[in-house]
Amino acid sequence: MEWVISSDRYRQKAISHNLSEILEVNIGSQPLRSKPQPERKPNSWYDYDLATGNNMVEFKHTYAGNPYDRGEPLRRSEETIAELQAQDSSLFLPFHKLNVATNTESLNWLGQAELTELDAAQTILLGIHDGIARFAVDVNDPPTELEFTDCRAIAASLATEETGVVAQARAQLDWHRRNPFCAQCGGSSRPERGGQVRRCTACERHIFPRTDPVAIMLIVDEPGGDHCLLGKSQGRMAQSNFYSALAGFLDQGESLEEAVRREVWEEAGIRVGEVNYHSSQPWPFPSQLMIGCHGIATTTDIHIDEIEMADVRWFSRAEAKSAIEQNNPALRVPGAMAIAHHLIRSWVDGEVEL
Ligand SMILES: [Zn+2]
Repeated sequence: MEWVISSDRYRQKAISHNLSEILEVNIGSQPLRSKPQPERKPNSWYDYDLATGNNMVEFKHTYAGNPYDRGEPLRRSEETIAELQAQDSSLFLPFHKLNVATNTESLNWLGQAELTELDAAQTILLGIHDGIARFAVDVNDPPTELEFTDCRAIAASLATEETGVVAQARAQLDWHRRNPFCAQCGGSSRPERGGQVRRCTACERHIFPRTDPVAIMLIVDEPGGDHCLLGKSQGRMAQSNFYSALAGFLDQGESLEEAVRREVWEEAGIRVGEVNYHSSQPWPFPSQLMIGCHGIATTTDIHIDEIEMADVRWFSRAEAKSAIEQNNPALRVPGAMAIAHHLIRSWVDGEVEL
């Protein structure tokens, strides 16, 4: 396949450190893919299957859709990464206390000249885009003229693809901050591969970034059912009318389907039969992957876990639909930034059949 050949050439040139040639010939403004791609709609409902050439339906959530080539072959050489970092064309996105540098609601990418004035605690290679190497920089004491914004607050102002870049950078910089030492021997660790891994300086163990899978599920009351199960946790939202899909971390030694059934049983006392995968969303606070599912209940009597949940209820399709449309004074649900919104919306709109 053309893409594989292209990838091999790319790898060989990366190893020879011929950077300008790599960037011009193999990355440039041309995608590595050889087949024509369909026109992309805003928010990318459609993606392209390289193996079959078919369109496939895929929803790109906020914090997904990162278009960068993460540069796997380039990362094999520390010298190559250093050369990329020193290139005049390279761009750098500063972060401070995990907030991202912004400039009137857009990301504030800096060039080499502006970078020299920053006190960089950590620089990581995000990837290559349009032939330009992109880095994220964790800044200790930023100059006052640099503006930083919370990564949740800025998301609504950015294109989906940009939120994916922010997610990659925020999750990885946070992970570096939290892992200065080896969990096995206590030795200090240092980053390698442009920040994709750390290695212990004492026992040489590799330490990889973690992503924590979370199952999040919208359960309906029966096949073709007209009610869905929504809950609210104990805590600051307990007294509100804000309900969402149930969710929980996957346990070790547990499949996604098993996690869905266990969480719904623990939180609501409802048994779930069929479970269907819908979509997934990176959630970089700090490093979750939200895995969205629909499921069909086999029981309907709710018995909530009162330690964890303030309430769990069945809501009708009409109630859920008006809540999605922000037109239900008695029920509020998450907005479009969250996967829970799309699990509910896809069901009330009849996009998924259960
Ligand atoms: Zn160690």
